[in-house]
Amino acid sequence: MKCDEVFATLASGEPPGKEQEIAAHLDTCEDCRADADGIAAFKHALKNPELYEKDPPKVRDAILKAAYEKADELKLRSKPERNRQALLALALGAALGFALGFVTGRFTAPAPPPAKKSEEFGPLPPPGDMLGPK
Ligand SMILES: [Zn+2]
Repeated sequence: MKCDEVFATLASGEPPGKEQEIAAHLDTCEDCRADADGIAAFKHALKNPELYEKDPPKVRDAILKAAYEKADELKLRSKPERNRQALLALALGAALGFALGFVTGRFTAPAPPPAKKSEEFGPLPPPGDMLGPK
């Protein structure tokens, strides 16, 4: 199994039957282990938004703007390998967003009450829409 295949499988939700192949690859590939950790953290944050401080709107908007610009730039190049980097950029941007929200919430003011509704985060566009046709 190649790195791109591992990433695509992990990012899309691990269809049954590939666990051993993926585990074998992760045992030998540091890059993919880092990707797997990032994907897991990203999915955890999406499933458990109440565990994370919200970003101030200004920070969230800046992250989304940068992600959209990067996705558009990569879509123009339209090489398959670039999709992986775009997904990574989006995942890292989102993870960084959560981390920034946590840090700014901790050090600049008393923590606001936790968000009760996930829609307070605003709609997250599905990554496929941002990356264009495969
Ligand atoms: Zn790999």
